[in-house]
Amino acid sequence: MEGGIIIKKTENYQGIELGPIRPPSESESIMLRITRNCPWNKCKFCGLYKGKDFSIRPVDHVIKDIDTIRYYIDEIEKNTAQSSGKNQQDLISLPARRPEYERLAFHVALSWFRAGMKSIFLQDANTMIVKPDDLVRILNHIKQLFPQVERITSYARSQTIARISDEDMARIAEAGLNRIHTGMESASDDVLRFVKKGVDKKTHIQAGQKVKRAGIELSEYFMPGLGGEEHALVSALETADAMNQINPDFIRIRTLAIPENIELYKDYKSGVFKKTGDVQVAEELLQFLDHLDGVTSTIKSDHILNLFQESQGFLSG
Ligand code: SF4
Repeated sequence: MEGGIIIKKTENYQGIELGPIRPPSESESIMLRITRNCPWNKCKFCGLYKGKDFSIRPVDHVIKDIDTIRYYIDEIEKNTAQSSGKNQQDLISLPARRPEYERLAFHVALSWFRAGMKSIFLQDANTMIVKPDDLVRILNHIKQLFPQVERITSYARSQTIARISDEDMARIAEAGLNRIHTGMESASDDVLRFVKKGVDKKTHIQAGQKVKRAGIELSEYFMPGLGGEEHALVSALETADAMNQINPDFIRIRTLAIPENIELYKDYKSGVFKKTGDVQVAEELLQFLDHLDGVTSTIKSDHILNLFQESQGFLSG
């Protein structure tokens, strides 16, 4: 079950919105906010959306965002063509007679234009919770207005993906969603239960395999340290086993951090959760990598908090 979902049908359009995060690999993407915050919002190790209600933005508002970005890209392209040889930075500015709240849209469009307009990231934590018909409508509109886009990516929870039919996944893929990031974190049922991930190993595997069947690229996250001292080994082995059954395109490493604003911090302080040291995290990671078997994933350790930021590579199966 997801938490309380709020769809504010009567809300007025206030321009485009930016959610708090995107994967590091989406640094050149434009952000398109489809939903706000996280519909689950219970994981003990995550404080990102704490105290914030989840809501789905009206589809018409998202369509309006896409139209607005197209308008500004057209303006920027016109301006750029006219300004060759002059200082383009000075010449590109917010066109007159547009609502003030579109200032953000203009700047977002300008950054995207400069990055080459190749990729789009759908925010926030779990876009796949949107009705397939609505998601397909949004994706079709993107494709119509920005046919040059090569990649459209979203975060998604395994629990949500598992409930989507293969037919709907295929329609969503056909409409243009071609990469999903899923936080597996661990595939040990004990660990998943303890951290309130709201999903079990079986569902992680079903969801991952479904994404792959639809022809969508899959990025799965593994979080060394999440099992604490007690479950470090089992977490490494179970997670490797789940990855072996999914064979995701990417395996991304995110070492556990315990800031004060997460629920796990209380468990850590009270001694219920015994944090692993760096050596144990390294051993867990080694066990995980050692037990990957038959996968052809690219391993990425692309987060600033990771113990081994520089480690990455390909597995050849
Ligand atoms: S599902 Fe993701 S965003 Fe939501 S609480 Fe868990 S880790 Fe955080």
